[in-house]
Amino acid sequence: MKASAFSYARASSVDHALELLAVHGEQAKVLSGGQSLMPALNLRLSAPEWIVDIGGLAELRGISVSDGMLRIGALTRHADVQASAEIARHAPLLTEAIAHVAHPAIRNRGTLGGSLAHADPASELPACVLALDATIVVRGQDYERRVPAADFFQGIYETALTPEELLTAVEIPLKPESIHFFHEHARRKGDYAIVGLAASAAITGDAFVDLRLAFFAVGDRPLLADASSHLVGGPVTASTLAAAQAALDDELDPQEDQQASAGMRRYLARQLLEQCVATLLQRPDLRTRKFA
Ligand SMILES: Cc1cc2nc3c(=O)[nH]c(=O)nc-3n(C[C@H](O)[C@H](O)[C@H](O)COP(=O)(O)OP(=O)(O)OC[C@H]3O[C@@H](n4cnc5c(N)ncnc54)[C@H](O)[C@@H]3O)c2cc1C
Repeated sequence: MKASAFSYARASSVDHALELLAVHGEQAKVLSGGQSLMPALNLRLSAPEWIVDIGGLAELRGISVSDGMLRIGALTRHADVQASAEIARHAPLLTEAIAHVAHPAIRNRGTLGGSLAHADPASELPACVLALDATIVVRGQDYERRVPAADFFQGIYETALTPEELLTAVEIPLKPESIHFFHEHARRKGDYAIVGLAASAAITGDAFVDLRLAFFAVGDRPLLADASSHLVGGPVTASTLAAAQAALDDELDPQEDQQASAGMRRYLARQLLEQCVATLLQRPDLRTRKFA
């Protein structure tokens, strides 16, 4: 199938894109790398009257570090995030996770901002920015606002963006002492996850002082699990871990689809929690079951 007819405007600057969106926002779609939008247009899952192409805007591209913050422009392609030494140093969770996002051809065009704005609940990167306590930078025609990642994702393909706004950047606080964990269960590498976990943590001695567990593909948006509270501030034992797993189970609302039942997703999420905690604390004794 081919896309239905639309008008096309290539934005020459962010201001120009915002002018176009101020006029056509409700009837428009922003085009970045096109790796989700183009299939949606061709399948006629989306039929906007206008396409506002921001793909050529160099001002939205790039990676920088200043004032205790790693800043990644919205149009920075997945391949550039994956290859960046700055990101490997300051947010290695992203480097590791991106290897699981689709395939090289898609990573060469798809962008970080596009993935976050698309807000697929099975996507890796929304969960990563949640685990990293990132802020999403959003611009409207006469203003800029900063939305904590925890408030940005609002449902399946739903975010805090209005049709007149652009996601312009992501800001990640530098936490030199933090460590991370990433794992997803997928049928093949490059497929969307059946269940995944992106986590960021800080450890003092043998206890977590901070633990951000962002599960994905277990609900309508990435979930920052409150279950972590059972594991922070004291020694982790088999029984505190079991309490955290039970609390996680209560928090989850997984869907059934062709890939997995809700029960299987719950099971895999509990196992990922165990794997994450045992790995970060380097406590193989906490594992009751080994996964490949
Ligand atoms: C075969 C295949 C496999 C895939 N596998 C995965 C996978 O495993 N994991 C995964 O996460 N993704 C996967 N994807 C999806 C894809 O990688 C991402 O969704 C894509 O990278 C999004 O970025 P983009 O720049 O291409 O966005 P686009 O397709 O251009 O846009 C996506 C959506 O976001 C909006 N948008 C884009 N940029 C902005 C912005 N700056 N401000 C406001 N709105 C914006 C668009 O209007 C559109 O609604 C796969 C895609 C394909 C085709």
